[in-house]
Amino acid sequence: MAAGPLFERVALIGIGLIGSSLARRMRRDGLARTIVCNAKSERSRKVARELGIVDAAYKSPAEAVRGADLVVLSTPLGVYGAIAAAIGPHLAPGAIVTDVGSVKTMAIRDVGPHVPRGVHFVPGHPVAGTEHSGPESGFAELFDDRWCILTPPEGTDPAAIEKVAELWRKCGMNLELMDAKHHDIVLAITSHLPHLIAYCIVGTATHLEELTNSDVIKFAAGGFRDFTRIAASDPIMWRDVFLNNREAVLEMLGHFTEDLTALQRMVRLSQGEKLEDWFTRTRAIRRSLIEAKQA
Ligand code: NAP
Repeated sequence: MAAGPLFERVALIGIGLIGSSLARRMRRDGLARTIVCNAKSERSRKVARELGIVDAAYKSPAEAVRGADLVVLSTPLGVYGAIAAAIGPHLAPGAIVTDVGSVKTMAIRDVGPHVPRGVHFVPGHPVAGTEHSGPESGFAELFDDRWCILTPPEGTDPAAIEKVAELWRKCGMNLELMDAKHHDIVLAITSHLPHLIAYCIVGTATHLEELTNSDVIKFAAGGFRDFTRIAASDPIMWRDVFLNNREAVLEMLGHFTEDLTALQRMVRLSQGEKLEDWFTRTRAIRRSLIEAKQA
């Protein structure tokens, strides 16, 4: 006999790239009996309904979470506190609340206090994405072979953690449990700093008086093009990441500027051997990534 769905009623608060990809996957693989959502704009709620990825779309987050055994926050981080305060009193006893946000200490700080006794909060971060946003941009395969990090605070119900882990495994992800602070440091170097660098370099290119924008666009294949993809990521999402993982990002930025200065010196002093050594080491990292199927 086929197993029933993992959840009876899932409420997605936010139905953009991540929320709608999860909805598509749950729908495709029968992971939830009913899927409902809340989004800020009428447009997104309408699109989600028309795509058939949700059974209902509510204007009010409090209404959306009523009777849900799983609630997934998939909005920008900056509205977590207000949403948690709005849904807190309406969460069903025994329900699980999780999230997909890119910074975990702040998720625990902003959501944790609003989760009533008898409801389980399991913070999470599926490390998968694209530069696109909105309900149209999602796809069911987004999470395949990527890593999902759960950062449950001490004392979280193990059964709730396992249920959330099972959801992401069924979405094709590998699972890792981690302390929230450690998560934020790891992601600062692997995700947040690369985005900041991309935003910086693309901005710098447009500020140069010697170049016209058409020079930059015409010859982008020289390396610039890869940065423009990252720098096209959602401005609100990334504003909130930098506002909410400030310390870890500043720490990594400190290391980065030291290394950049070292490279600058190698270039200025024409230290070819040192440059070659550096580039050989970084090339090896790319190879390991390919071998780990994370390229
Ligand atoms: P997105 O495509 O921009 O979608 C955000 C969703 O949140 C939209 O449905 C938006 O509604 C809704 N929303 C915004 N403010 C709201 C509010 N006050 N109340 C209710 N809904 C609200 O963003 P995303 O890329 O899916 O990112 C969502 C979360 O996933 C973020 O916390 C981010 O850190 C995390 N994340 C992102 C990626 C990535 O690569 N994109 C990867 C992993 C994790 P409207 O459309 O109506 O504005």
